[in-house]
Amino acid sequence: MSCAPAQFIGGEWVRASSTLTVEDPSTGGQIGQIGAGDAQAVDMAVRAATDAMAPRRWGPAQRQDALLALARAIEEQAAILTVLESRDAGKPIFATSHIDIPAAAAVLRYYAGWAARLTGETVELAGPGDGVGYVLREPVGVVGQIIPWNYPLMGVAFKIGPALATGCACVLKPSELTSLSALWLARSLERCGVPAGYVNIVTGTGAQAGAALVAHPDVAKISFTGSTAVGRQIAAQAAGACKRVTVELGGKSPVIVMPDADLDRAAMAIAMNIFSHCGQTCSAGSRLIAHESVADDLARRVAHIGASMRMGPVDDPDTRLGPVISAIQRGRIAGHVDAALAAGARALCGGVVPDGPGYYYPPTVLCDVTPDMSALREEIFGPVLTVQSFASTDLDAIAAMANDTPYGLAAYVWTGNLAWAQGMARRIRAGSVRINAGGGGDMALPSGGMKMSGFGRENGRAGIEAYTELKSVAMLA
Ligand code: NAD
Repeated sequence: MSCAPAQFIGGEWVRASSTLTVEDPSTGGQIGQIGAGDAQAVDMAVRAATDAMAPRRWGPAQRQDALLALARAIEEQAAILTVLESRDAGKPIFATSHIDIPAAAAVLRYYAGWAARLTGETVELAGPGDGVGYVLREPVGVVGQIIPWNYPLMGVAFKIGPALATGCACVLKPSELTSLSALWLARSLERCGVPAGYVNIVTGTGAQAGAALVAHPDVAKISFTGSTAVGRQIAAQAAGACKRVTVELGGKSPVIVMPDADLDRAAMAIAMNIFSHCGQTCSAGSRLIAHESVADDLARRVAHIGASMRMGPVDDPDTRLGPVISAIQRGRIAGHVDAALAAGARALCGGVVPDGPGYYYPPTVLCDVTPDMSALREEIFGPVLTVQSFASTDLDAIAAMANDTPYGLAAYVWTGNLAWAQGMARRIRAGSVRINAGGGGDMALPSGGMKMSGFGRENGRAGIEAYTELKSVAMLA
C-alpha cells in the first residue's frame, strides 16, 4: 500500500517538497509516505479556499447534494477505505467496517440535512415607522481544521460536514499518523460536486503544517480536535488574533454505577467503551465509580470481558483489539500503569506489555487506586479502567467524586432509578451525560467539553451554527 506524497490543494494534487513515513502500528513497518506540508503549502491552500468562497455561487441545495454524494462515495468505497483505515490507524476491520466507515457516511448525511435549513430571522425594530431588521446567518469564512489520529475518516466527516453545509471552504490537516483515508476521500470530491478549493488537505506535522494553519491571517476560524496540551496553545493563539475557535480536547470520564443497575448490561457496555479501539476514544469512560456493594463484582466482570477480547492482527475478522497507535503512545500507557502498580494498585487483568511486533497493549483494570496516582488523574488514552467505590447514595457526594478531575467531556450513569439519574446528570460537569448507555453518541446531540476538555460544540444545531456568523441589517423605510 502506498500513497503519493502530495497535498490536495485547489482541487489538484500538489507535490510536497519533503515527506513523512507512514507506519503500520500492527507491525511497526513502513506502509507509505505522505507529504510534509509547510507554511508555503498552507498558504497556497488558504488562498485556494479564499478564492473558492469569493463568488458566493454554491447554493444550499447544491451543498446538500454534494454532501449526500460524498456519503454515497464513502459507502461505495467502503472496502478499500476499511483496509486503508485499519492498516493506518491499527483498527480491527471489524471496527472499521461496522463503525468508522458507515459512521463517516452517516455524519455527512446528517450535515446534508442542515445545508438547506439554516435560516436567519427577522425582527421588529424599536423605532416608529415601517423599518425592518433582519439577521443574516453567513458562513464564518475559511476554516482551518486540525484532527487527531483516533477516528481518522470520521474526524474528516465531523469537520468537512458542517463546513460544506454552511458554505465554508476549509483547509484540513489530518494527523501525521493517519492521513491516508482523508487523502483517499479527496479523490471523490470533484465528482461529488464539491467545487475546487472548498476542501483542501494539507498533511504534515502539527509543529509545521498545523502551526502555520493556526497562524494564517486569512483563516477565520480554527476547529481543533486533539490533546488538551495542544488545544490550550491553539486557543490562546486564536484568541490573540480574534479568530473564532473551537477546541475539542481530552477526557477522563467517570462511569457511575448504582446497586440497582442492570449489571450484565453495564459490565458489557463499560468494557466495550473503554477497551474498544484500545481506549483511544476521547469520551471513553475510564474511571469506574461504583457503589461498594457492586464494585468488586462489576470490576471482575469487566476484567473478564476485557481479558477474553481477542487481540491480534487488524485484518483478521475475529480480532476485536488491534495495537495502539505508536510506540510512544504504548510507552505512555505502560508508564501510567507501571507507576500505579508500583504504588500499590492491583491489576485485575492486563498491565503487561506483550512480546512480539506491533504496539499492542492489553485491556487493564486497576483496583486500589489512590488520588495521587497519574493513572487516576491523567488521560491515559489506552485500554485502562480504574476502579473506585463509594458507600452513600447521596447525589452530591457521588457527583463530587465524578467531578474530581480537570476534564469534563463525558459521563455515564447506570441505575434503575431514572429520577436519581436525572439528578446526577444535572450535577455532572461534563458536555455529555449518557444514562444506562455505553459509548457512542447521536449526531443530533451537541458534543464537546467543559473545563479542560475544551469549548465549543460539534453536532446538533450548536455544531452547525459554530460555522456561521450573524450579521444584523436594519432597513428604515
Ligand atoms: P495532538 O494534540 O497531539 O494532535 C492533534 C492534531 O493537532 C494533530 O493533527 C497534530 O498534528 C496537531 N498539532 C500538534 N501540535 C500542533 C500545534 N502546535 N499547532 C497546530 N496543530 C498541532 O492529539 P493526538 O495525540 O493526535 O490525539 C489524541 C488526543 O485527542 C487525546 O487527548 C483525545 O482525548 C483528543 N481527542 C478529543 C476529541 C474530542 O472530541 N474532544 C476527539 C478525539 C480525540
